[in-house]
Amino acid sequence: MTALTDKFTLSNGVEIPKIGFGTWQIPDGAPAYESVAEALKIGYRHIDTARAYGNEASVGRAVRDSGIPRDDIFITTKLPAEVKDYDEAKASFETTMSLLELDRVDLYLIHAPWPWSDMGSDHRDGNVAAWKAMEEIYQAGRSRSIGVSNFDVADLESLIESTDVVPHANQIRWFIGNTQHDTTAYCKANGILVEGYSPLATGAILHNPDVTRIADKYHRSVAQICIRYLLENNVLPLPKTTTPSRMAENADVDFEISGDDLGTLDGLVDTVA
Ligand code: NAP
Repeated sequence: MTALTDKFTLSNGVEIPKIGFGTWQIPDGAPAYESVAEALKIGYRHIDTARAYGNEASVGRAVRDSGIPRDDIFITTKLPAEVKDYDEAKASFETTMSLLELDRVDLYLIHAPWPWSDMGSDHRDGNVAAWKAMEEIYQAGRSRSIGVSNFDVADLESLIESTDVVPHANQIRWFIGNTQHDTTAYCKANGILVEGYSPLATGAILHNPDVTRIADKYHRSVAQICIRYLLENNVLPLPKTTTPSRMAENADVDFEISGDDLGTLDGLVDTVA
């Protein structure tokens, strides 16, 4: 399964495995520990967590217990969306590191440009302040790369014009029918890797008849078509599952979707979920 071993290269030269294992909504304790342990056993080498998911402690323990060299595993975590202040960002990173019990992370993201309770509100100055803390964390080598999540073009522009390090990645909601054209194009033009979260639309796409038709044609599952679609677009998929057979299925995507079928999938704008 080359999708587990192939890598994208960030603008600073750091390599990132092409598929990440999502952990949102996997509770801390045995569920997160066992899911991450199983994913690592299957061959995933990229784990996506967040302070807000509440499961960093279990993710870190599963990584440490895996016996896999730390340098072979890519760990992403995120600064809570509510933190829009330099000192609080620094403090939140220390909390994250003490929960993970790792000496560094590989990618640290601002979880969103606005607090979840006030989506769309303007926090330009707060994001710049938090980013200064992220830049220092990066420059100290405590995160090998830094980025953002849920940022649109205006959010990215206002951050980039007031700071030194251009984000290495932007993690956005990205699946068939929801491909965020403008943000994706901006990121690609500025060397920012697009990571696609909810590649299965958090499950809502799995029974879509149009995607099912294409999956049947390739003798593949809908989940595999969805994940492959991101890779065909050079977007890094972050599927989540707690079911071991699905972990393997989601990584078994060494096939190509034809140009015609990609065109059909591109045409499913806003019809999927
Ligand atoms: P997703 O990966 O789009 O879908 C997960 C759902 O699909 C679960 O219900 C899972 O069920 C099911 N599933 C997975 N593989 C399947 C398969 N092969 N066949 C059938 N069903 C399958 O969900 P997501 O959690 O929304 O997104 C993935 C990751 O993106 C998150 O875990 C998180 O790491 C990241 N994310 C980031 C943000 C952000 O703001 N940055 C927001 C949302 C998500 P089971 O688990 O029961 O198998």
